[in-house]
Amino acid sequence: MKYDDDINLGKKFDLRGRRALVTGSARGIGRAIALGLAEYGAQVAVHGVSQSAPLESALAAVKKLSPSSFSVTGDLSDAESPEKIAEQIKRQCPLPDILVLNASVQYRTKWLEISPAEALKQMQVNFNASLALMQICFPLMKEQRWGRILTIGSVQEFRPHPDMAVYAASKSAQENLVRNVARQVAAYGITVNNLAPGVFATDRNEEALSNPEYAKRVTDCIPARTYAEPSDAAGAALLLCSDAGRYITGANLVVDGGLRLPG
Ligand code: NAP
Repeated sequence: MKYDDDINLGKKFDLRGRRALVTGSARGIGRAIALGLAEYGAQVAVHGVSQSAPLESALAAVKKLSPSSFSVTGDLSDAESPEKIAEQIKRQCPLPDILVLNASVQYRTKWLEISPAEALKQMQVNFNASLALMQICFPLMKEQRWGRILTIGSVQEFRPHPDMAVYAASKSAQENLVRNVARQVAAYGITVNNLAPGVFATDRNEEALSNPEYAKRVTDCIPARTYAEPSDAAGAALLLCSDAGRYITGANLVVDGGLRLPG
């Protein structure tokens, strides 16, 4: 066998010339992923529901690493939002070839009490909007013969929380879509993967984790005995969004400190 010893990993992680959209990147995990992609050279569309101080702060941090980055806004519970976000992007640059579907809505409600409106909103943001954005961005990825689609799921695909039944189901539906589409687009140089976070210290968990007893109960369940920081998702996302991950598709990369593992 003849070996190519020029592994050159630095080049394989290089995202210069790539354009990324990271939904829900005003805060939390999405913000860290946006920063990671920007650090490796991608132009990033930083996204939030509407203009806000967190969105401005995230954009300022991203622009320090990748100056041509910009922000877009839109509430993904509105079915027209994916198209409207695409229109905002097209005013700045061609549609993205790296699509990170990170925004989500999560209600803590016992399953018998989940209202149709709550169920619908979670499915709209966590599943339908992901599908719509994938459909919008696919043609250009296909034409370029290069694309990366990364959905952000949850450890709840494996361990659904009793008070988040529809949220967990929406994440499993999204991950099923990933495996289905991955097969269909692989020949165009497009990978489609899911990253499933465990417990991350972000705004949505701030109140719950500020209770020391609850925080201890949570960390006791995690083999790594600590919850994650947003930046813990950035390296995994970079792998799946770069040439370093070109042969990984239809995968579900769980970033959870072992939480999904049976005891
Ligand atoms: P977060 O800190 O709560 O931030 C959520 C982001 O999504 C924000 O930027 C928010 O925009 C945006 N967003 C919320 N509702 C939206 C809507 N209706 N339309 C468009 N954007 C919306 O979230 P996170 O904890 O980093 O979670 C990021 C992803 O990881 C989510 O998919 C979540 O389900 C998943 N996850 C998180 C954990 C965890 O422990 N944190 C665990 C498992 C999975 P604004 O800033 O404008 O409000």
